[in-house]
This record gives sequence, C-alpha cells and structure tokens, in this order.
Amino acid sequence: MLDFIIVGLGLSGLAVTSRLEERNKSYRVYENLSQKSSLVAGGIFNPVILKRFTLAWNADEQLKMAIPFYQQFEKKYNVSIVHFWDIYRRFYSAEEQNNWFDAADKPRLVRFLDTQLVKNINSHIDADFSYGRVSTTGNIDTEILLDAYRNDLKERALLEYEEFDYDLLKIEADHVSYKGEKAKNVIFCDGFGLKKNPYFNYLPLYGNKGEYITIFSEELKLDKAVKSSVFIMPMGNDLYKVGATYNNTDKSPEPTEEARKKLISEIDKVITCKYEVIDQIAGIRPSTADRKPLVGRHPKLANIYCCNGFGSRGVLIAPSVSKELIEMIEDNKELSPEIDLKRFTRKHFNAD
Ligand SMILES: Cc1cc2nc3c(=O)[nH]c(=O)nc-3n(C[C@H](O)[C@H](O)[C@H](O)COP(=O)(O)OP(=O)(O)OC[C@H]3O[C@@H](n4cnc5c(N)ncnc54)[C@H](O)[C@@H]3O)c2cc1C
Repeated sequence: MLDFIIVGLGLSGLAVTSRLEERNKSYRVYENLSQKSSLVAGGIFNPVILKRFTLAWNADEQLKMAIPFYQQFEKKYNVSIVHFWDIYRRFYSAEEQNNWFDAADKPRLVRFLDTQLVKNINSHIDADFSYGRVSTTGNIDTEILLDAYRNDLKERALLEYEEFDYDLLKIEADHVSYKGEKAKNVIFCDGFGLKKNPYFNYLPLYGNKGEYITIFSEELKLDKAVKSSVFIMPMGNDLYKVGATYNNTDKSPEPTEEARKKLISEIDKVITCKYEVIDQIAGIRPSTADRKPLVGRHPKLANIYCCNGFGSRGVLIAPSVSKELIEMIEDNKELSPEIDLKRFTRKHFNAD
C-alpha cells in the first residue's frame, strides 16, 4: 500500500511531495497538464505589497524557509533556479514617497525598504518622481524547476501524466483505492482544477486569471526590475517579461487579445523606446476569498486532504504550508487556524 496519492504537480504538489521525500514516504502523483499557473508565474518572491508598502501575510517568515527550500533543487538538478535582484518601485507622487519613508521605519520592513531613493534608472523610462528600492527579492525560475522535478519523478516511476478521475476514487475507513492501487491518504494539489473536485469544490476558491507578455527591445537596456503600473522583469538577451494582469471573471486558460492590449497600453505609458511583443502566456491563480491558503483534512473523510489557495504568492507560501500539512498528517500537529480549511467548514457541513 502506498502512503499517499497526490493529485497535481504545480508548486503545491512539488512542495508536498518534497516533504514526503524528506520522510521517506511512498507516493504516486497524477498530473493532467490542465492548469498552468505554476509554469507561467513570474516566480517573484517579494515580501512587500508594493501598492501599500506593507508586509504580505507572514512573508518575512515564509521567505526564510523558501530560499533554502528552492536552493536544494539547484544542487540536486544542477540548474540555476534562484535569482536575487532588487525591485525598483516607481513613485507617482510626493505623498507616495512619504508613505515609503513611514513604512521603511517599521521593524519588519526595515530590511526590505531602502531609504536612499534612486532618481533615474534608465534613459528610456520617464519618471517625474524617484524610485524606492526593495531588496532581498528576486525570482524562482518555476519552469526550469518544475521541468527538472517532473522529469525526475517520471524517471523514478512516481508520476503519471493523466487525468485523475475523481469518480474512480474509493474511500474506505483507513485507506483509499484508485484504479486498483491502495493508498493511506490522498492530497489534492489541483490548483484551480479544484473547481471539478467533488471533495473540496465547496471551498471559496475563485481563481484569478493572469497574463504576461514578453517584449524584445534592443534599445531599452534595462538591468533592473521595475514596478510601475506594470511589472517589468529583465530576462536577458534584450527580453523582458511585462505583467501580470488580474482578471476575476474570465476563467479560460488561453491568452487574450484584451490582456495583450491592456499590457501594451500600460507599457507605452512607461517606456519611450521601440519594442516588439514576441510572446504571451496565461494561467489561473488559485485565489481565495480571504487571500489565505486552503489547507487541511476533509471535514468528513479522514484520509482526504487539500493543499491549495496560494493565490498570487505560491512561491513564498508553498514551502511553509506544505510543511505544516505533512506535520499535521504525520505528527498530529495543529494547523495554523488562518490556513486551516476548517474556517469554511461550519458554514457548509454544520460541523467543526
Ligand atoms: C500570470 C501569473 C503570474 C504569477 N506570478 C507569480 C509570482 O511572480 N510569484 C508568485 O509567488 N506567484 C505567482 N503566481 C501565482 C502562482 O503561480 C500560484 O500561486 C501557484 O503556482 C499555485 O500553485 P498550485 O500548485 O497550487 O496550482 P497549479 O500551478 O495550478 O497546479 C495545479 C496542478 O494540478 C493539475 N491538475 C488539476 N486537476 C487535475 C486532475 N484532475 N488530474 C491531474 N492533475 C490535475 C494541474 O494541471 C496543475 O499542474 C502567478 C500566477 C499567474 C497566473
């Protein structure tokens, strides 16, 4: 009998199975390539909310765990995944600059926000005000990471590239069986796929579509990540990722003309030189009503679990939340109430 069946191998599935590896647990993963959120993500780890200059939920603590977590895969697969760079937040008013100084005084923000403002960072970007520098930020190359991880699991015969058919799961008191194989537990890491998951689709996972365009510009020569009305991330070879959009209504997986036009109109307000759009990608962020993850045990079924709801911050959230979930299952530890899906249980099942 397997210890676990895992459904979905995005950042959640990757983090959960890594935690199982640490404990020498046996598992099999099903991945149907239906969702792309983890693959298209900019992979940015940035603890600061750049609109209000506040700390994102638990982000300083999550960051401490996340960096070594991802660095282990650089060693394991001999690839470059963790990139550190600063973000330059473009200000739009003197008031914003003052808010920045107020925020930079706060003890939990002091290490991230530089009080030395920067005047001009690039001759092709107009800026009436200065920039604030956010440090200890960067990105995880989620595509390289997931490719390497999925190949590894496939070679070790731990991954099946196929649809997990929820109807075929049979649940007994102390185990489950699926297509003739028995396992002690199932963990659903199915991202926005949860909408089709009969065990957890009562949870308030809304989904928020995000799109990026990639532009090519020989003239721009920007070597810094800039947060203006859009995020501009240098990728090398005169390529830049620009985005991302946020759309609560469209849940289709394909890139749209509407998002492309919006991003072009935003970038035109920021850069003054010529560029060419050469690519566009889209994914659905598994976002939730209260912006906190949805983690834990099914309210009625003891061996069915969920690890979802990472919203727009999966890179920072996945390592710590997966650890909590496995400690809950294996060591009987309590989950933090703010991530525990129990907070939505009472309403739907009239039970704790
Ligand atoms: C445009 C965009 C930009 C983003 N940028 C950032 C960023 O810079 N930083 C950051 O931290 N986060 C970012 N995010 C958010 C981040 O991508 C998510 O928080 C994270 O990837 C969610 O991971 P997940 O594993 O829960 O979901 P997913 O990545 O959606 O993975 C779920 C997996 O389950 C599979 N699946 C679903 N149903 C089934 C089934 N029935 N059978 C088998 N397999 C199934 C899917 O194919 C998928 O691979 C961004 C998202 C988008 C869309």
